[in-house]
Amino acid sequence: MKIKRLLIANRGEIALRIMRSAKEMGITTIAVFSEADRKSPHVQFADEAYCLGPAPSSQSYLKGDAIIELCLIKKIDAIHPGYGFLSENADFRQKVEAAGLIFVGPTASAMHIMGDKISAKQAVKKFNVPLVPGLDEAITDVDYAKSVAAEIGYPVLIKASAGGGGKGMRIVEMESELESQMQRAISEAVNAFGDGSVFVEKYVTSPRHIEIQVLADTHGNCVYLFERECSVQRRHQKVIEEAPSSILTPEIRKQMGEAAVNVCKSCDYTNAGTVEFILDENLRFYFLEMNTRLQVEHPVSEMITGIDLVKEQILIAEGNPLSFSQDDLKINGHAVEVRVYAEDPTNNFLPDIGRLSVYRRPQGNGIRVDDGFEEGMDIPIYYDPMIAKLITHADNRQQAIDKMIRAIDEYQIVGITTTLSFCKFVLRHPAFVSGMFDTHFVNKHFKPEYLKQELNTEEAAIAALMAHKVFSGKPAKAMVPAGETRVKESLWKKNRK
Ligand code: ADP
Ligand code: ADP
Ligand code: MG
Repeated sequence: MKIKRLLIANRGEIALRIMRSAKEMGITTIAVFSEADRKSPHVQFADEAYCLGPAPSSQSYLKGDAIIELCLIKKIDAIHPGYGFLSENADFRQKVEAAGLIFVGPTASAMHIMGDKISAKQAVKKFNVPLVPGLDEAITDVDYAKSVAAEIGYPVLIKASAGGGGKGMRIVEMESELESQMQRAISEAVNAFGDGSVFVEKYVTSPRHIEIQVLADTHGNCVYLFERECSVQRRHQKVIEEAPSSILTPEIRKQMGEAAVNVCKSCDYTNAGTVEFILDENLRFYFLEMNTRLQVEHPVSEMITGIDLVKEQILIAEGNPLSFSQDDLKINGHAVEVRVYAEDPTNNFLPDIGRLSVYRRPQGNGIRVDDGFEEGMDIPIYYDPMIAKLITHADNRQQAIDKMIRAIDEYQIVGITTTLSFCKFVLRHPAFVSGMFDTHFVNKHFKPEYLKQELNTEEAAIAALMAHKVFSGKPAKAMVPAGETRVKESLWKKNRK
């Protein structure tokens, strides 16, 4: 059934990104927003927009029933959930279907199986997908956990079954720490997910996080759109992603792709999804989890395959068969994405809020910016601190990296501290350039002092630049390199006097 009116149950960059594809398909786009987002670009861009309530997500973006009711009143036929918020909520998905609406995503049953790491492991095991050695059941008994840990060998990882966003994970180096770490993992899981089920698995000491993008239609066709390398992480959360990975051979790529297709089969998966794996030093890969939604870093896969994943999601939700097969898919060049968080990399990546007093995007061939803010806007404290994604695409990895460094230098952000300076540090680091790194990159190679030094020189440069702007009465020609700036609002104001 053709979708005519699509509601995007999300905000920020991802809401905009979904609306762009929908508009190109001739679909009317409907935004929802909280009172804090009244002036946001996603509200302006949509054909229609409706306020859901006050700023906190629980009173706005998470109000599934209100969203469904709105669809019925306004004759909206489909909902795209984006990522975060309601995107992985199987109950919501069920209610959408019960109301006779189309959900742009997998079935409730697939979401239910894959939404829980333990049931996911149990499902994929039957399809011979390799698992990290450990348990595929919830544990509460400390002595049993100790015996399992002794068998698989320390270090082990205690993980929340309902976990997500890097939360609810505890590394245990030795038996004496197991009990206290298990208790912490359980209480963290209860607080974050309302579900205290935890399990134990082997802690892979030098892993790379490599994930496979999949698309499955409702006619039994399933393809993989190759991998994304997401090993540069802080707090188990990704900051830089790229496609393809510099470490995979064509053989392993094929094996991982086929394993991902098997994961889809294990839960009758439909629509776009991501199967996450970790890869050890010997290039052995193990299933971690499946994210049953569009992923933050999906643009790198779009750049190298030329496929618009949101369009495919919509076509699949309408009931169309995929218009291409596995053999039609080829990797074209290399893409890198950096996540621009309103966070201070010199202060333990703590969120930084404020007003975007200057905000200029980089431009040029091979550069894509997916963002959800405009100059002059305040970054609200209520939501995820990610303000933009910067993506570059070139013929090969080094060119994509060089382009990214140029784009970061061109990106002008004043008023808030961002992770751009940190990303530039990573992109220039020999370990990143060589392609030989793992998920410990940040802990191993990064110290805030490295940035502080550069930032101090840059603050002086910006002060000079601003002075020039004031005295000449016109904008200075030189660019403010956001990648190396950390300009406080006060400094900006001082220089405008
Ligand atoms: P990805 O796996 O797409 O790289 P993340 O795991 O970083 O993305 O999460 C994507 C988005 O969803 C982020 O905005 C994050 O805050 C949110 N998110 C992920 N898992 C959860 C969860 N269990 N509860 C709440 N928010 C979550
Ligand atoms: P989440 O739902 O929070 O995304 P994941 O299972 O995907 O949880 O794990 C997030 C990250 O934690 C991985 O990308 C990886 O860096 C690390 N991790 C997870 N499991 C292991 C493991 N068994 N050994 C080593 N690192 C792991
Ligand atoms: Mg994950």
